[in-house]
Amino acid sequence: MPITVPQLELDIAHVCNLHCFGCAHYSNYTLKGLIPFETGSAWLTAWAARLTPRVFTLLGGEPALNPDLGRYLVFAASLWPDSRREVISNGLFLSRHPDLFARLRDTGTVLEISLHSRHDQAYMARMVEVLKTVQEQAAAHGVKVHVRESTNYFHVAYRGAGPGMRPFAEGNPAKSWQVCVNKGCITLHQGRLWKCPPLAFLGLIADKYGLHAVADWRPYLAYDGLDLTASDEALAAFYAAAEEPVCGMCPTRPNLIDNLDITTPYAGPAAGAPAPTRPNAPRPFRKVPVRLDRSRPPENTSPPENTDPPENTNPTEPPCPE
Ligand code: SF4
Ligand code: SF4
Repeated sequence: MPITVPQLELDIAHVCNLHCFGCAHYSNYTLKGLIPFETGSAWLTAWAARLTPRVFTLLGGEPALNPDLGRYLVFAASLWPDSRREVISNGLFLSRHPDLFARLRDTGTVLEISLHSRHDQAYMARMVEVLKTVQEQAAAHGVKVHVRESTNYFHVAYRGAGPGMRPFAEGNPAKSWQVCVNKGCITLHQGRLWKCPPLAFLGLIADKYGLHAVADWRPYLAYDGLDLTASDEALAAFYAAAEEPVCGMCPTRPNLIDNLDITTPYAGPAAGAPAPTRPNAPRPFRKVPVRLDRSRPPENTSPPENTDPPENTNPTEPPCPE
C-alpha cells in the first residue's frame, strides 16, 4: 500500500534556454539532456507502488524542451488522479506544444510560470508577450495558471562558479538547513529519491567540470539518496528528515542573488582569473509584485534595506525553486 507523502518532483529536462545563476538544477551551466518518457514513466510507475505525493511537480531545466511533456501530464494524472499536479516552466517554449492547454485542462494540471529576472531587459520584453499569450490560452481552456516570482530567490548552494565551484563546508549543517530554500523538494532522479535538486544533480555538474577529482566535493558526491529497496519506515524517515551531514555543502546564511542577466550562457572563468564568489552583484532581498503590462508604472517596489528573507519553515511556501 503506497504511503502518502507531501511532495515529489521530476525534472524531465536538464537543458534550459535560460541561464539563471543559482539554478538549483545547475542548468545555467548549459547542461544537456532530456528524460525520455520511457525512462521517466518507468521511474514513476515503480515509485507509485510505494508512495502517493500530495503534490507532484514536473519541471527541469525547462520541461517544455522535452517533446514528451504532454505524455508526462497524462501519465501523472493516471498515477495520481487525486494529487495536485503541476508543471513549472519559464514559459518561453510552451508554443512547442500546441495541445498543451488542452492537456492541462483534461488532466487538471496547474501551470506555474516562473519569473527569473527584473533586470534582464531582453528577457523581460519576451516575457510580457509570453504572459499575455498564456493568460489568453488559460482563459480559453479553463486552465489554472500561477505566475511565481523567482527573482531575488536563488539561494546559491556553492561558492565560485563552473570549474571553480566549491562547497561552503562551514561545519554547521543545521544552520545551512535553517536557511535552505530547497527543504522538502524531494527529487526523483535516476530512479532514486534525492533530498533536494542541488544534491540530485551535483553529479551532472561534477561530470561537466571534473569536480569528482576535487577532494572538497567527495563527501557530497558520495550521497546517493534512497532506492526502491528501502522499507516503508526508511521511506517515511527520508521524508521526515531535517538536516543531514550533506547539508554542510550549503551556506549557513541566506545567499540570495538577483540575476542581472539570464540570457547569456556562462562562458567560463576568464583565463588566469580566480573564480568569482558572486558573479552578480548581491541585492537586498525583496518581493516584487508581478506586473504584466510594462506600460504601467510598477507598484510599490521599494525594498526594505538589508532585510534577510524569512526562514523557510514551510516547504510549499515559498515553493521549491527550479
Ligand atoms: S532556474 Fe529555471 S529558467 Fe533558470 S536556468 Fe534553472 S531551470 Fe532554467
Ligand atoms: S543539501 Fe540540505 S541545505 Fe543544501 S539544498 Fe539540499 S536540503 Fe538544502
